[in-house]
Amino acid sequence: MGKYKKAMEPVKVRLKKNDLVEVTTGKEQGKTGKVLKVFREKNQVLIEKVNMIKRHTRPSPTTGQGGIVEKEAPMFVCKVKLICPKCATGTRFRMTETGEGKKARVCLKCKEMIDG
Ligand SMILES: [Zn+2]
Repeated sequence: MGKYKKAMEPVKVRLKKNDLVEVTTGKEQGKTGKVLKVFREKNQVLIEKVNMIKRHTRPSPTTGQGGIVEKEAPMFVCKVKLICPKCATGTRFRMTETGEGKKARVCLKCKEMIDG
């Protein structure tokens, strides 16, 4: 146990809705966007305008004409990294206690607290 720990394992930072993230691998690499939704049980996040997929839709009273719509598909959290809103770079974070059992993420570069 622990002996074969992967060296490249990313820092576990819990992502939240409205976080700014950057894709670190795959065909969407380098893209940045806002987290729209977190699927915690699946370790996936939905990022605004990232990992778009085309969906064919049927004509319906609500959408009008049928056709192709583009929408975001969830991505694994291991493929994205949190971006510090202040330094605007994907940097490293650590968790800190803010009191009352609450935790916040602190940017190791500018010491900015991402959330409280
Ligand atoms: Zn920072």
